Amino acid sequence: MMPATSTKLGPAACEKDAEKLEFIEQMTTKAGEVQENVLAEILSRNAETEYLQRYNLGGATDRETFKSKVPMVTYEDLQPEIHRIANGDRSAILSAHPISEFLTSSGTSAGERKLMPTIQEELDRRQLLYSLLMPVMNLYVAGLDKGKGLYFLFVKSESKTAGGLPARPVLTSYYKSQHFRDRPFDPYNVYTSPTAAILCADAFQSMYSQMLCGLLDRLAVLRVGAVFASGLLRAIRFLQLHWQELAHDIAAGALSSKVTDPAVRDAVAEVLRPDPGLAEFIVSECAAGDWAGIIARIWPNTMYLDVIVTGAMAQYIPTLEYYSGGLPMTSTMYASSECYFGVNLRPMCKPSEVSYTIMPNMAYFEFLPLDTAAAGSPPQLVDLADVEVGKEYELVITTYAGLYRYRVGDILHVTGFHNAAPQFRFVRRKNVLLSIESDKTDEAELQKAVERASELLKPWGASVAEYTSQADTTAIPGHYVIYWELLVREGEGGRWPEKAALEACCLEMEEAMNTVYRQSRVADGSIGPLEIRVVRNGTFEELMDYAIARGASINQYKVPRCVTFPPIIELLDSRVAAAHFSPACPKWTPHPG
Ligand code: AMP
Repeated sequence: MMPATSTKLGPAACEKDAEKLEFIEQMTTKAGEVQENVLAEILSRNAETEYLQRYNLGGATDRETFKSKVPMVTYEDLQPEIHRIANGDRSAILSAHPISEFLTSSGTSAGERKLMPTIQEELDRRQLLYSLLMPVMNLYVAGLDKGKGLYFLFVKSESKTAGGLPARPVLTSYYKSQHFRDRPFDPYNVYTSPTAAILCADAFQSMYSQMLCGLLDRLAVLRVGAVFASGLLRAIRFLQLHWQELAHDIAAGALSSKVTDPAVRDAVAEVLRPDPGLAEFIVSECAAGDWAGIIARIWPNTMYLDVIVTGAMAQYIPTLEYYSGGLPMTSTMYASSECYFGVNLRPMCKPSEVSYTIMPNMAYFEFLPLDTAAAGSPPQLVDLADVEVGKEYELVITTYAGLYRYRVGDILHVTGFHNAAPQFRFVRRKNVLLSIESDKTDEAELQKAVERASELLKPWGASVAEYTSQADTTAIPGHYVIYWELLVREGEGGRWPEKAALEACCLEMEEAMNTVYRQSRVADGSIGPLEIRVVRNGTFEELMDYAIARGASINQYKVPRCVTFPPIIELLDSRVAAAHFSPACPKWTPHPG
């Protein structure tokens, strides 16, 4: 056995880890210098692009010139360029390197997924960030090379833009790349899921086979994960619904005919043998309907859950604690379609203490102080190495793929430094009201949905007097709950809308939601039917009384469009006169981008 190799971060588990930890040390120690070089490299290689030519940098690659000449932008500002690229213009518009594909973000613009241009070499950068995760984890958890990871990983449907470029989520792009498919054997990264199962585009077949393989190898499993907490909970839900079929397959040593993908069948056949003892065990664990600690019972050697539980995912922590019997949860990285940002150097810390260290080699990072963002004064962007502990900033990036001073929309809080590189707590994404998994619904979208649905009340002489909402994740999948207080003009022939009418309103609201919501509802089943809870008249007045009693000003009181505070939810729920669910799925088709 190789001797442990010492690094500043701690004793590395092997030589390869030592190299990676050393890399983290170097990058974070020279954060300012690395950032300067990254910017110079991006600007010099893209100097001739149409976009940078517009700002007359005159070949300059220094920070001062860049900051004085190139504006900060949003996705909407870049839409003309992005449309041209999507429609087939291959000239060097944003990047000197050819745009290889579009990554479809879960962030939306005008109801559609944002399309993020990317270039081939970005895959190497993403791969590099992934390669740092296990060396860091090995500092805290020993022996991960002695077993396997049960990871529920999925690809989603992809399309092509009018100009023929693929448009797909960043993880779909990564799993389908050679970097992932042809990865060399690494004892610290052995998965129970066959690659063919991960790459199967059919959500049921993919989940079924991944769960089956995870059950077959249950004693080898040392960590259980998915990208986000919501994904792991979907897997647990799947087990609750399908344990009988899974146990049947294990007893018989034969894969269900519902899995038809030949590559998946071949891959499963390699590991599936009749194992009546295991089948019996699964039945005995699942049949009682007691799901507390199910992860630790079925996979008793699990040391931690590898899932992101920061940001919108924090709402799932109690549920995951319940199903896992209190296993630690590790949020290992912070990334987006635009760029992978950084890693958590203390992955075993409590979810509330997670901070991400942005890796200075990934892109050029700037930070918009939150106070100036709100005040409207000329924005003074701060460099990575210059942010201040305790302050909040919005993240602004300049990437190799050709985004320049682009506002990601994430708000980060500086918690400290690792060497010269700051560490950030993810605070929130701007303008997100409701989120179950990757969906993000803002206040304007919710308002529009309520307006569309309330049109259907007109024939009843009724309208929506007040509304608020809640992301209800008490059951899996979670769903949107919209509380409505109705105004019915009974004196003028109005009537209380019947059940079918209110159900139609639920569906109408779903039709009005953005494409990510509808895809999650229709293709993934990761969001349940939207629910309208009609509350008794006067409920919203009570809500206001409650807020005022707690110190809100009467003059400034505004109905919150989303509620999370348990006593408020209790108040609303105790006034519900009727609850209705969407009776069908909204329309959704993979959009060509
Ligand atoms: P997407 O563009 O769909 O890949 O989504 C990227 C966004 O997901 C980021 O900008 C964040 O808002 C959110 N996100 C990614 N990683 C994390 C994390 N570790 N914690 C909290 N939010 C995250």
